[in-house]
Amino acid sequence: MSAVDAVTLDQLPLREDLRGRSPYGAPQLDVPVRLNTNENPYPPPPELVADVAEAVREVAAELHRYPDRDALRLRDELAAYLSVATRVALTERNVWAANGSNEVLQQILQAFGGPGRSALGFEPSYSMHPIIAAGTRTDWVPAPRREDFTLDTDAAARIVAERAPDVVFLTSPNNPTGGSIPHGELEAVLRAAPGIVVVDEAYAEFSAQPSAVTLLEEYPAKLIVSRTMSKAFAFAGGRLGYLAAAPAVVDALQLVRLPYHLSSLTQAAARAALRHADQTLASVAKLAAERDRVVDELRGLGFSPVPSDANFILFGRFTDAKASWQAYVDSGVLIRDVGVEGHLRVTVGTPEENDAFLRASKEVPR
Ligand code: PMP
Repeated sequence: MSAVDAVTLDQLPLREDLRGRSPYGAPQLDVPVRLNTNENPYPPPPELVADVAEAVREVAAELHRYPDRDALRLRDELAAYLSVATRVALTERNVWAANGSNEVLQQILQAFGGPGRSALGFEPSYSMHPIIAAGTRTDWVPAPRREDFTLDTDAAARIVAERAPDVVFLTSPNNPTGGSIPHGELEAVLRAAPGIVVVDEAYAEFSAQPSAVTLLEEYPAKLIVSRTMSKAFAFAGGRLGYLAAAPAVVDALQLVRLPYHLSSLTQAAARAALRHADQTLASVAKLAAERDRVVDELRGLGFSPVPSDANFILFGRFTDAKASWQAYVDSGVLIRDVGVEGHLRVTVGTPEENDAFLRASKEVPR
């Protein structure tokens, strides 16, 4: 082994607070049925593929130049989509975009979190929220959900008032549990929060609840709604996340974003994909119907699926979730062990993939 290969992490002058931590790591295994990262199972339609290829070909001729640093046309088009989807008039001044909503969330913590500051989330929730907090040296304050994984918003408002975090994460629908926060209940937390409230709406298109974007007018200095093209838009590989907020929030994020963070290729591809939004979003109704079918069938098999508004289902109970997860993999179905005791999470796939998952569910140990 060369000296370069022999160096270990322990020998590096790594920040003390990062020692012993694990990176985000959903296994990327090559199995026939992959239902583990909440992607849209339907590949982009051929017209979208052709449009993305053409858009990328056009910008390829300009790759010697940096991209539009402010991604203005993309933000304008995202604002147009969100205005129609939420019936709230938004412009590019209200919208910010980055490489996946993970980068959006990181920029939010770079600007509003950081050393000496804290962020609070209601667990179990999206595992990247505490990881991004750690990366930005923001103290993470975990707060509980009810036993049934719903959010007790009165209790949530109390703990937010008591702990006074600089940033609160509310995920609706929540990953990995699937439930949305009823619209009328969001305000209790918004009123109690002294700082920023991020409503992570990565799965909003799958839910019948109105978007928190409708509350922006009332809480302009507190509320940030983050969204992504990775799920309903079937654009996970394109890496495009965005947010809606007051223009001042966008100004704040400009202080921490890297210049030219969104490549010309990403901007062009995302804009082309957005032109086909009607087509890609047509999968949402199909996936919601499949979700409800899978929930019913899981119940029929004696499982306890958690009611879901998203494109995934948390279900149990398993005596040994890890062993059952492996049994699914062995039968060619990759789902997710999200670390919720006695439970596993399955992403809703195509009807054929869901059938394969349901067949495997009859065989796995519980
Ligand atoms: N928020 C939630 C709740 C998620 O589940 C995910 C993806 N798993 C993200 C944000 C980040 O997605 P992306 O970076 O692909 O936009």
